Amino acid sequence: MRCACGRENPVAAGRCAQCGRPLEARRDARRWAVDAAAAASLAIALGAVWALDAPRWALRSAPPADSLLPEVLQTPDRDRPTGVFRPLRLAVTPPEYDDMGKLLASLGSGYQFTEIALDDLLNARRLAAYDVVFATCGGVPNEWLGPRIGRADRGGVGSFLVRPPIADRLRQALRSFVGGGRTLYASDWQFQLLEIAFPEMIDHAKRAKGAPQTVVAEVVDQGLARRLGRSIQLRFDQPAWYPAAFKEPEATPYLRGAFKTMDGREMTGPLLVRFPFEKGNVIFTSFHNEQQHSHIEQELLRDLVFATVTAREEADVRRTLMRGGFWPKERNLLSASAGSQPVVQEYALARPGPLQFVLGFEPRGARLRLSVAGPGGARYEQEGVQTFRIEIPNASPGTWRCTITPLEVPFPNYPFTLTVGEKSGGS
Ligand SMILES: [Zn+2]
Ligand SMILES: [Zn+2]
Repeated sequence: MRCACGRENPVAAGRCAQCGRPLEARRDARRWAVDAAAAASLAIALGAVWALDAPRWALRSAPPADSLLPEVLQTPDRDRPTGVFRPLRLAVTPPEYDDMGKLLASLGSGYQFTEIALDDLLNARRLAAYDVVFATCGGVPNEWLGPRIGRADRGGVGSFLVRPPIADRLRQALRSFVGGGRTLYASDWQFQLLEIAFPEMIDHAKRAKGAPQTVVAEVVDQGLARRLGRSIQLRFDQPAWYPAAFKEPEATPYLRGAFKTMDGREMTGPLLVRFPFEKGNVIFTSFHNEQQHSHIEQELLRDLVFATVTAREEADVRRTLMRGGFWPKERNLLSASAGSQPVVQEYALARPGPLQFVLGFEPRGARLRLSVAGPGGARYEQEGVQTFRIEIPNASPGTWRCTITPLEVPFPNYPFTLTVGEKSGGS
């Protein structure tokens, strides 16, 4: 039987040999689609009701939370990773349009995940078993839906109001999950879940539905631009995709672009954003893992996973920098595998002054070395098993070269961040 990740498995197999997902005969693949533009204004007019696109058929249920590995974390030694470190616990909703499971499976053993049912998003206790939840593009269960209020954009039966008790549970569960310091990834149609859970973050003027098209997106995030270039072509195959209509500056845009909407307007807005909520973070992307992607699109999707799994540590790094009077000028998402070459990054410092390089990673069994070489031969070096910094009190302007050597990594594609901070006062 062919798994959603693409692997052919024996007919009798219960689980996929590649990604571990349960193998079941696919349910009725009919898509119930939607139109939420009209629905949204109605929902807003009514105040407390929300529209949802695309109901889907009943979903598989997740294993009980108590079947998960217990957390085993020991106080990290200053020098060596010792003891048992648990990997991040990742949960993914069933693949419909965004097959995140396939992408995670390609990243190796550190990215094992549990497939959860969309109904688990209503249950804060179930969500608490995970560090990161990927709510991937697709419809929602029939049971979530109230009255039908409009026609569909993707050949389905229509657009519906979500039942108010479901909206309440969703809001409570997602806010408690993220608020507790965890990370929620949502793609495309799951914008609607964020709209229910985090209504204060929505910028209604930017709310729209995109037509199928290729968008030339500007890479606004410095670190991402370094890897992907200043602009990137993204192919949106499906009608009625959701731009990242979140308030700025509360939400930080990574990508933005000009695009055509379903109703023929030209709009410009963010396509990938991150916003903090209490102790946690939400990442929303309009673009997602779908059909065949170009090489650069695949790079973006991998970076999206790295950004998601490092979001918490990176937010801590940022807070700490700012408390110390530093401004995070650039953040780079990096990854390393055992035996891989050192990663080299250069940073151009315009003015003399205090400078910090922060290597951000959770204590999960890695040991990394950061070497910094400045203009005029200044050298600094440090190693650690979790986030550490090198601070240069009076750095000379010019090119600063950072070399990160993976001394030990617990799994391939081990993600970390390198953040550069300059003393505030400039921009
Ligand atoms: Zn599979
Ligand atoms: Zn989608």
